[in-house]
Formats: sequence, C-alpha cells, structure tokens
Amino acid sequence: MTNKIVVVGSINADLMIRVDRHPLPGETLHGRGGNIAPGGKGANQAVAAAALGADVAMIGAVGQDANAAPALQFLKESGVDLAGVREVDDVTGLAVVAVDNAGENNIIVISGANAYMTNELVEESADLISAASIVVLQGEIPRTGFETAARLAQHRLIINLAPVVEVDHDLLLKADPLVINEHEGALVLDQLGVPITESSSPFDIVTALRAQGFASVVMTLGAQGALVARDDAVVEVASPRVDVVDTTGAGDAFVGGLAYRLAAGDSLEEAARFAVRVGAFACTGHGAQTSYARSVEQLPEVQEA
Ligand code: ADP
Repeated sequence: MTNKIVVVGSINADLMIRVDRHPLPGETLHGRGGNIAPGGKGANQAVAAAALGADVAMIGAVGQDANAAPALQFLKESGVDLAGVREVDDVTGLAVVAVDNAGENNIIVISGANAYMTNELVEESADLISAASIVVLQGEIPRTGFETAARLAQHRLIINLAPVVEVDHDLLLKADPLVINEHEGALVLDQLGVPITESSSPFDIVTALRAQGFASVVMTLGAQGALVARDDAVVEVASPRVDVVDTTGAGDAFVGGLAYRLAAGDSLEEAARFAVRVGAFACTGHGAQTSYARSVEQLPEVQEA
C-alpha cells in the first residue's frame, strides 16, 4: 500500500460563456467570455487534493483535440501523476457552461473521451488502483468502469455519487465514506429502494443511509458545512463563513480535501473539519479548479459560534 490517492473519473474542458439572457430555441445571441477552464469532477477532486500537497494519481481519458491540453493544465501544474490518463480517438469531455445576468446556468455536457472509461480501460490501471491507500470515485464515468474501480479498491474507497447513477449496490456499499449532498442522498436512498418523505431532514437521510450498511456517510450542506455519520454518531461540522463569489466546484474541493486528510491518517471527523475549509475557500473565486487553494495556509478558519 502507498499513501497515494487514486482518482478514477472524468476530465473535462469547460467552455465558459456569459450572456445577458439565455437564447430562445432557434435564436442567435451575442455572448461574452469564451475561455476554456479545466473541469470534470474527477479532475477537480484530484487537483483539489494535489494542490494542497497530496500524492495523487489520475485515471481518466482525454481526446486528441485541442481541448486536451487545457483540460489537463492544472492536473499537470499540481503534480498529479498522469500515467493512467489515456488518449483516445474522440473529443475531450466538454461542458458548455452559459451563465446569464441572473447567475442562472445552462450547461451542456459532451462525455467524449470520458465515455471510454469502461471496464477495459480501468483494468489497465489495476495495479495502481489496488495499491492506493485511497480510491476516489464519482458518477461521471460509465458504470462498468466505476464498478471495476470499486472492485479493485483494496483499502479505503471514497464514493461521491454525483451525479447519482445506477451502480451495483454491494459495490456502492464499499464506500467509506459515501459523500453526497442532500439531494443526492435522497436519490441514493431511492436507488436502494428506501422510501423517504418530503419532510426527511439531512439527519434522517444520513441515518437511513447508514442503516443500509454504509460504514460512514458524509453529507455536504453548502454554507451549513457537513454532517459526518459513523459508528453511532452523527456529527455536525460547521463551515467557515466566507464572501461567496461562485460556489462552482465547492463539493469537489471538499472531496479532495477529505481524501487528502484521510490519506494523511486523520479520522473521518478531523478530515471533514479540514474539508469544509477547502470547500469554503473554493467559493471565494470564480470557476472550479481556478478557485482552489494552493496551500493549507490559504484556507479560512471556522469562526467561533
Ligand atoms: P455541492 O455543490 O456538491 O452540493 P456543497 O454546496 O454542499 O456541495 O458545498 C461543499 C462544501 O463547500 C460545503 O460542505 C462547505 O464546506 C463549502 N461551502 C459551499 N457553499 C458554501 C458557502 N456559501 N459558504 C461557506 N462554505 C460553503
């Protein structure tokens, strides 16, 4: 076993567009921006951990087009091991993100190379995945690739099932922790066939998830921080108050921070107390990876209640 964090997931280029208002069907409008930022939940989480000093390897795929270079830029700059990133004969994953003056998003995602992250491609990195002390998975790669990675993980497996996709339930239950937000937590319960009501609180949802057999569950709650559930306890973890510029990628920053501290030997609660600071910092700048902390010293402290 190494102290390595291995992230198996998506790598995207995000094309950022600003519009006064979103176009109607068939309409042509002028927009602004047009720059390409690195994204994809897998890459975001890998960068968030590596930028803070973690030893991270990425397993993923990019295309042979011009967007591969910007998609990989911060992974490279933050020192992520890219030996497990394959170049496939397709386009790099692309998210076309249009934001209007009211801050409303319209997003079109083209999976491109991420769709090649099937069983065969993930198997090629089997040794790296099984030797990792922490494997991190999200819901943006094909089911067979996700399940192979979950099966290969020998030590700690963090599953951030975002978006919530249908996966093998026994493999999903290997998550320790399962990291979800409130909405995703309800969808995972639904997938497991557990009825929930409109009035279910975050506490109810994490408790119901634990009752399904997850060793631990972490629910992120935006400005409210997070809930950490393991053993017989559900602990509330407050987030620092920050001047919010853009919350894009905050959840991914949280997962990266959590993986970093778990790899360093923290308890889950200690790691979550660190991760909320990483998530909060990511809200203080624009974009996802562009807004991530580059050192622990940058992270805001949680104010006294
Ligand atoms: P997601 O985008 O996946 O739903 P959250 O919005 O819960 O994720 O954000 C993840 C983490 O980022 C939170 O647990 C918290 O630490 C931090 N965070 C998000 N929004 C804010 C905010 N408005 N103020 C302070 N911290 C925030």
